[in-house]
Amino acid sequence: MDQNSQQKSLHIGLVGAGIGGLAAAIAIRLAGAEVTVLEAASELGEIGAGIQMTPNVSRLLIKWGIADIIGDNLVEVEEFNLRQQDGTKVGYTKMVPDMKKDLGHPYGTTLLSLNLQLMRDRWWVVHRAHLHSGLVEVAQSLGVKLLINSRVNSLDYSRKGPVTVTTEARNRHVFDLLIGSDGVNSVVRRTLFPDVRPTPPSTNSAYRAIVPYSRILKDPIAKTLIEKPTMEVWLSEKAYIITYPISGCKDLNLVLSHHTDNLVYNVEDVAVEDLRKQFEGYDLKIKRVIDMIPETQRWPLLVTALESWSSPEKNVVLMGDAAHSMVNHMAQGAATAMEDGAFIGRCIAEVVQNRLTLTQAVEIYEKERMPKARAKQHISFLNGAIWHLPAGPKQEARDGAMKEEMSGKKLSRSPNLYSDPRMLEQVYGYDAEQHADEAVRTFLQRREGVIDT
Ligand SMILES: Cc1cc2nc3c(=O)[nH]c(=O)nc-3n(C[C@H](O)[C@H](O)[C@H](O)COP(=O)(O)OP(=O)(O)OC[C@H]3O[C@@H](n4cnc5c(N)ncnc54)[C@H](O)[C@@H]3O)c2cc1C
Repeated sequence: MDQNSQQKSLHIGLVGAGIGGLAAAIAIRLAGAEVTVLEAASELGEIGAGIQMTPNVSRLLIKWGIADIIGDNLVEVEEFNLRQQDGTKVGYTKMVPDMKKDLGHPYGTTLLSLNLQLMRDRWWVVHRAHLHSGLVEVAQSLGVKLLINSRVNSLDYSRKGPVTVTTEARNRHVFDLLIGSDGVNSVVRRTLFPDVRPTPPSTNSAYRAIVPYSRILKDPIAKTLIEKPTMEVWLSEKAYIITYPISGCKDLNLVLSHHTDNLVYNVEDVAVEDLRKQFEGYDLKIKRVIDMIPETQRWPLLVTALESWSSPEKNVVLMGDAAHSMVNHMAQGAATAMEDGAFIGRCIAEVVQNRLTLTQAVEIYEKERMPKARAKQHISFLNGAIWHLPAGPKQEARDGAMKEEMSGKKLSRSPNLYSDPRMLEQVYGYDAEQHADEAVRTFLQRREGVIDT
């Protein structure tokens, strides 16, 4: 215990400085605990690709000062367009909400407050390297210790109390709580749950690619695609393409979802000609951009399903892809990892203030966050099924049901999950910190007998 402040001194260790681990490190440091992050790589960084930062986490980027650091490299998307393979528009979401229109809407109150929130919490797209370096800068300025070349090999967590981890270089670190933020192939998860293996739920995987605007602007047809900062999706049978600008509109990011003959478990190098062949016959605007892709890799889409996220003594806990990797079709993997970090940060703040024990904090985190992550896994899979529909009655029903949105009408349910009111509420309007505060309050009230158990 710290004599001056009566606050509890805690040292929390994180394995992995990815987007999730860094978000958790910031949140936990803000909670008043000492934080060390052990990262295997010899340099801090992220893969060369774009990422969507949806309103449920852009709020964290704003609050933690990361948005200011990333600055113009964050791109705000104005529109989201769903198209058939030939470019015909079939779905539309206005990404910057129009409050006046929503006032007159029958779902008024909820949507109005959600839209007010969405106006504050923006829908951004960004290069992962820019996001990652913003997270690193804020973490370091808060005093988080980031140790590179620190691949964790083993952990000793058998006794109640502190956990000892050993790195490849045989350095030992002792923490009051260890958080496994080490991604889909997590050593922390493999140690806790050796029988669990992340698996692709189908033969679906994704190519990732970036094409510079300077190249696209030279093509009179392709350049019409980048006149406005929009997110575009071309839907086709068992495949889709999504594009959006990154790096202050200097690059166009592409994700090309497709199926293969076999299940994909690892990142694969692919000849760019194979990709081009697979996406022939698309709208000429996007086809021309595809022909400019310099190189690509195929990424697996793995799902991790766990019954628990923690050790029996609650001194080790998982987060992010290590706990709940999901398919990418709602762009929620990293977002959910950041939510985990924000949530656990608020719970640890209560431990620092001596209102909860670490065990209780971990229990609240697991109880509340596991169902949220599971729901995101399901919704992500569902959106993949919607976007991959083959031509026929179901596809026609999907497109028909989204049609009225194109003239500005708000629907009570929509197969376009980017504008479906229930998704706005459950996914984009979700506030992880508020959720944590409410869960802690309920826990404390139950403990004090204020409310029934
Ligand atoms: C095609 C595609 C598109 C996607 N688009 C989006 C999107 O738009 N929005 C979104 O929110 N999500 C998206 N995702 C998902 C997102 O990329 C992941 O969910 C997210 O990166 C997971 O973050 P993480 O911090 O949990 O793990 P990771 O990013 O995997 O980070 C793990 C870190 O741990 C380190 N590490 C690993 N093992 C050890 C060890 N033994 N010791 C020390 N360090 C270790 C690694 O080096 C790494 O730095 C997409 C995924 C795919 C495949």
